[in-house]
Amino acid sequence: MSIDWEKEVSHRSDELINDLSELVSIDSSRDTEHKTSDFPLGPGPAKALQTFLHFADRDGFQTKNVDNLAGRIELGDSDDAIAILSHVDVVPEGPGWETNPFEPVIKDGNFYARGASDDKGPGLAAYYAMKIIKELNLPVKKSVQLILGTDEESEWVGINHYMEKETMPETGFSPDAEFPAINGEKGIVSFRVNFPTPTISLVKNFAAGIRPNMVPQNAEADLDLSAISAEDLKAKLNDFLTANKEIKGNIEIDSDNNIAKVQIIGKGAHAMEPFNGINAATYLAKFLVELDLNASEKLYFSFIANDLHLDFAGKHLGIANKDDVMGELTLSPNIYEYDATKANILLNIRYPKGDTGDTLTEKINRALPENVSAVIEGHNQLPHFVAVNDPLVQALVGAYRDHTGDDTEPFTVGGGTYGRILKHGIAYGAMFPGDENVMHQPNEYINIDKLLKSTAVYADAIYRLIK
Ligand code: ZN
Ligand code: ZN
Repeated sequence: MSIDWEKEVSHRSDELINDLSELVSIDSSRDTEHKTSDFPLGPGPAKALQTFLHFADRDGFQTKNVDNLAGRIELGDSDDAIAILSHVDVVPEGPGWETNPFEPVIKDGNFYARGASDDKGPGLAAYYAMKIIKELNLPVKKSVQLILGTDEESEWVGINHYMEKETMPETGFSPDAEFPAINGEKGIVSFRVNFPTPTISLVKNFAAGIRPNMVPQNAEADLDLSAISAEDLKAKLNDFLTANKEIKGNIEIDSDNNIAKVQIIGKGAHAMEPFNGINAATYLAKFLVELDLNASEKLYFSFIANDLHLDFAGKHLGIANKDDVMGELTLSPNIYEYDATKANILLNIRYPKGDTGDTLTEKINRALPENVSAVIEGHNQLPHFVAVNDPLVQALVGAYRDHTGDDTEPFTVGGGTYGRILKHGIAYGAMFPGDENVMHQPNEYINIDKLLKSTAVYADAIYRLIK
């Protein structure tokens, strides 16, 4: 029997758009200021979860709400299940919207609302795929569990709670990325490099960076004007800016405190692609090492200028590594603290197969100067990979190709999608190759024809996995 998946989707397209409209009308961004024992992340994420689960109750699915933190919708009752991981929380609306982000607007075939593309639209597309298989009464051997998180945009509290309370299937996909499929993600780890407490003479304070996963756009240093004249400093900065046209900079004189504030402005970028940014901090360090520094200032700023500046592959730290499939390790030094009480740097590293937290710790410490050491900060996420010739990838990419005629190969990224939660999981849609990525942006939208197409792709793909 051949099934016309596109036709089955078109019969349900009005209902799908109605459900999506209801779901995006709920502001489900994390709101712990208003948390209660019933709503640990605030009422919004829980309300979106309940609404999604009500759609499934209405349609006759088995559902489970796990403490308002996560939920499950089940198709079939076999113990052999595949998982689909989506999330109902959204990032905050942010500035720049032309319409109300929680009152959906359809314009030129696009559906505008916060969460339309990340991830309420793709999550509902996967749900409607299950609904079609159910309503067609297709014979299936395995079951499907659509598992909904409520905190994907922050700390994954919802999905982590789910994994403590329930059993997570090993195989499946997450509709929260791109077609044809993301079959691998680099490992992600941050290191805190600690220097001896500095002796202050010229540089009283140096600061840059706000988040471990962002290249710092701004860097600032407070210089003591009893150690250098303002005129001399201005002339030197001018020369430096002339030699480095990619950055901007300025000096502000605070004569009350006898301090010059030097600021460098570069360009922010995601830490998985540090070469797309301009790291203001490493440039500022490069400027400072041209001045008259004492030994402890030299130790810190020379390290940044010589061993970190523009070294996105980590060659100087001895961690450069390349994998045929996952590509090169990337190094992005993103947060800097330096004053009379401390001196440290936070490095964010994305690494391919072949390394672990231990091997990186050893390599970095071997490359560091004496009395300087590095330790892992936070959680080390290991590389995640499913081979292209694996039956899961073959089935999903095969369905995508049959519905689109597009032969684009699956690819790997710097991390980190929901796909890595599953032992044997990949990220699969719902963005199409070449689509504008509007996730987290003002005026977020999903193209309705593409939403319906992805629903057909998901239905066919799921059926291939469970029949
Ligand atoms: Zn998402
Ligand atoms: Zn997101």
